[in-house]
Amino acid sequence: MNSAPPPPGTLHPALVSLVPEVDALREVGRMLWQRGWSVGTSSNYSVVVNRDPLTLLVTASGKDKGRLERNDFVLVDEFGKPTTGGQPKSSAETLLHVVAASQPEVGAVLHTHSIWTTILSDHFAAQGGFEIAGYEMLKGLDGISTHDTAWWVEIFENTQHIPTLAEQVRQRLDDVSRPLRYGYLIRKHGLYTWGRDLNEARRHIEIIEFLLECTARRMILAGELRPAGVL
Ligand SMILES: [Zn+2]
Repeated sequence: MNSAPPPPGTLHPALVSLVPEVDALREVGRMLWQRGWSVGTSSNYSVVVNRDPLTLLVTASGKDKGRLERNDFVLVDEFGKPTTGGQPKSSAETLLHVVAASQPEVGAVLHTHSIWTTILSDHFAAQGGFEIAGYEMLKGLDGISTHDTAWWVEIFENTQHIPTLAEQVRQRLDDVSRPLRYGYLIRKHGLYTWGRDLNEARRHIEIIEFLLECTARRMILAGELRPAGVL
């Protein structure tokens, strides 16, 4: 196994056949950065490039999401480990991508750190989530065809121990009595969402951010959104 990084200006051998996928993720990164949902080096994105065994193309750790280069990606296996040597370190949250992508029909996973996800995930943390209902924009989520519906937004407690959080998410995804659909929030941290492909995951992030902003702004206007502990 060649463990040396590629010479400057050349693409890592693991990525040579994945240039369209790499460039699509770079374009999504520019959009999410421009929208203010992936500022600095926050966030991480992935697409499924093989289903069996599960193989993901995921963003490397610590890269500016508005200016991703072609070598700022890692090919990882079903355990979140690089498939070959010489690749950059993958995102610290790679395991959360693996868990989300383990669902059938999930082809892309996007994670962002927006202001509204950060605020609402803290405000509703004690009740483990909150419901969004009645908005026309809910129809932007896969399988929803009417505004007259409700979506439960699950919130997980934040942690720096990603394997623990990944296991919590996996258990929740396996709980068929309470479907975890479209994505979830991590407290004071951000959003994970997914889709059949990158276009659908991207649409879901735009829709969810819209719905969260509506929810938060409505609560602010009604005087209902205050920092935790403030009466
Ligand atoms: Zn994060």
